[in-house]
Amino acid sequence: MCGIVAYIGPKEAYPILIKGLHRLEYRGYDSAGVALLNGNLRLYKAQGKVSELENLVSDKDISGNIGIAHTRWATHGEPNDINAHPHFSPSKKLAIIHNGIIENYSTLKSELINRGYVFDSNTDTEVLIHLIEDIQINENVNLVEAVQIALNQVIGAYAIVVISQDYPDMLIAAKKGSPLVIGIGEGEFLVASDATPIIDYTKNVVYLDDEEIAILNRNCELKIKTIKNKDKTPYVHKLEMQLNTLEKGGFEHFMLKEIYEQPRSIKDSMRGRLNAQKGIVSLGGIIDYEMKLINAKRIIIIACGTSWHAGLVGEYLFEDLTRIPVEVEYASEFRYRNPVIYEDDVVIAISQSGETADTLAAIELAKSKGATIIGICNVVGSSIARATHAGSYTHAGPEIGVASTKAFTAQVTILTLMALSIGSKKGTISTSKFYQLINEIENIPEKVEKTLKLSEKIKAIAYEFKDARNFLYLGRGYNFPVALEGALKLKEISYIHAEGYPAAEMKHGPIALIDNEMPVVVVATNKGTYEKVLSNIEEVRARKGKIIAIVTEGDVEVKKLADYVIEIPETQEMLVPILATIPLQLLSYYIAVMRGCNVDMPRNLAKSVTVE
Ligand code: GLU
Repeated sequence: MCGIVAYIGPKEAYPILIKGLHRLEYRGYDSAGVALLNGNLRLYKAQGKVSELENLVSDKDISGNIGIAHTRWATHGEPNDINAHPHFSPSKKLAIIHNGIIENYSTLKSELINRGYVFDSNTDTEVLIHLIEDIQINENVNLVEAVQIALNQVIGAYAIVVISQDYPDMLIAAKKGSPLVIGIGEGEFLVASDATPIIDYTKNVVYLDDEEIAILNRNCELKIKTIKNKDKTPYVHKLEMQLNTLEKGGFEHFMLKEIYEQPRSIKDSMRGRLNAQKGIVSLGGIIDYEMKLINAKRIIIIACGTSWHAGLVGEYLFEDLTRIPVEVEYASEFRYRNPVIYEDDVVIAISQSGETADTLAAIELAKSKGATIIGICNVVGSSIARATHAGSYTHAGPEIGVASTKAFTAQVTILTLMALSIGSKKGTISTSKFYQLINEIENIPEKVEKTLKLSEKIKAIAYEFKDARNFLYLGRGYNFPVALEGALKLKEISYIHAEGYPAAEMKHGPIALIDNEMPVVVVATNKGTYEKVLSNIEEVRARKGKIIAIVTEGDVEVKKLADYVIEIPETQEMLVPILATIPLQLLSYYIAVMRGCNVDMPRNLAKSVTVE
């Protein structure tokens, strides 16, 4: 997620920190803040761009040669000045910056509240710094030990840096699941989420491993221990990448970086919501409205673009698992066609940015008719998040590439969890099916990882078809929305005309287009309507279309018919869309790159469609 920078050394910290925050701006963020120590600990933070923070501090004391700074991408608590980082401990002697999600923050927070602590913000992060100080005082340990003890109680993902007024010559950094790099300069240390804020000062860096904690001293001592207090020897790497490549995490484009982030973003979507061992699926954000969903006579899903495709997967999932009828609507059509909406309808609105104008207007319309509105957005505190009665954030992290990739798989993950949670409570899903599914969902990030390893093969296929003028994408059942999404991705970034169709519907029209120049991508995984799709493939083959098939590992039948096959890992039918989408994202990406297109900023498109 967002950005961390910290400095300790002989120089003034503020200019280094603010420059570092600007370097991290590409990651997308909603607020920024800085804490500086020069005798006393001062903290400045502001909603909005880093430049807002610069305005705020223009008449403030920014002295100090030790400090921490942060750009936030809200996950808990809307983006505002108070929720921005750093966060103070109760005594205001400690401050923390944090990237990630503390899953068990609410349990920890309740315990601290019971003991009389008061919180200023709604963040999970503030809980951690309160906990650290509480341990420091009550268990009478030093700051490093307190951080270790606290981190042993934390479930979730974190990259943190802690600064203390009582230890003006030391910074403490730690990580688990979120990235953190330490730069070793001349007589100084820098800490950051990636090397972009560091590269100007040193090429020597140490990457912390999960559950490691680094103690950085002004006398240039770097100690690394685990949170269980085992000593570790720092391994110093030499940075070789250019700034531009570093910003994209070593990838050529943000889109590719985001495609590759999916094992992690899907895991983040499930974080704290799924416990397969205990058989728990629970989406905190909708708990108060679960009865509405359980009793709903109908669910209407409203969305646009890629989110609409996620909604279509949602239709299959909800009807299968909850037996509630579902309609999936384009928000732009829904809002203008005098739709029939009942008070016992539940409307699920899906939008990455949470600002999509048509979806927002559709929500207002449904709300005015008394329906319950549940949101699924990526951006915390966005207009849609505020307009809905309840909802779940996707927690995919900022998506910079205009063509949506990781947001789509995160939306589908949330819809799957929602349908499972409602289905299990409603009794419309058998216990064995429920356990099969939740156990398999846990394996999905690993299977996505495996699917990404197919990229070289997909690149070779892209090369064969980069000059095609048209593409057809076919799928049935759960793979029909995947076909639509595959076609949309190709259109968006390569400007090749592509159509997604339900495979059986092909013979009612698009079959006329098929000749030996037409590439046809068929999503033909081994469950559901596999036999039927085989027949559709035969039909394409009879007309000499070139078949690129997405199949399940070990497939025999499709392989006999297709020109190219991409084998994805076996999984439950309901979870196939997440895996099957990945090769299609990569195919579009490579074709677009080979055609010389600007994949991150395709022509005529905007990341957040705030006009109707
Ligand atoms: N969970 C924290 C928050 O919402 C950190 C978010 C981030 O990584 O920027 O404040």
